[in-house]
Amino acid sequence: SNFKETEINELFNHLLALVDSQAIMENVELSLEIDEEIPKIYGDSNQLKQVFLNYIKNAIEACSTGGQIDISVSTKLDMVEIKIKDNGSGIKEDHLNKIGTPFFTTKEKGTGLGLMISERIISNHKGTVRFESKEGLGTTVTIHIPYQKKA
Ligand code: ADP
Ligand code: MG
Repeated sequence: SNFKETEINELFNHLLALVDSQAIMENVELSLEIDEEIPKIYGDSNQLKQVFLNYIKNAIEACSTGGQIDISVSTKLDMVEIKIKDNGSGIKEDHLNKIGTPFFTTKEKGTGLGLMISERIISNHKGTVRFESKEGLGTTVTIHIPYQKKA
């Protein structure tokens, strides 16, 4: 596999460069707060980038003009915690349990595959993902991925 020691700081700075222009076009503000000393994750940096890109793109798509997306990266016990919070449309309560099932989409041109693939990749990294959402208020996605403790 392509699992390697992966620098999360670097990964997010690269990601932001990728999504910045889309955010500007959609008039959505992106903020990123990364703790200084995030331990490395043992993982596939390209897959992880795809995962975070998926969640950030969903957040941008959920926001209308003037939206705000706050991304934070910190450590919680033996996990790296990534939070992607948007103040967009939110998710209907009876849609919450369909989130991540194949082909579930509310978008005209959506595939409904992004979340399923993302969850699979996170699970391959022994991580978890949790959605919290209020219709009309926004959504927070919280991802936990274990880091390798130094021996
Ligand atoms: P797609 O983006 O192609 O629709 P996804 O698997 O990425 O497929 O997302 C599935 C569905 O989950 C979306 O259509 C949307 O209804 C909902 N969703 C995901 N992220 C968000 C979010 N941040 N805010 C509101 N709804 C979301
Ligand atoms: Mg998507």
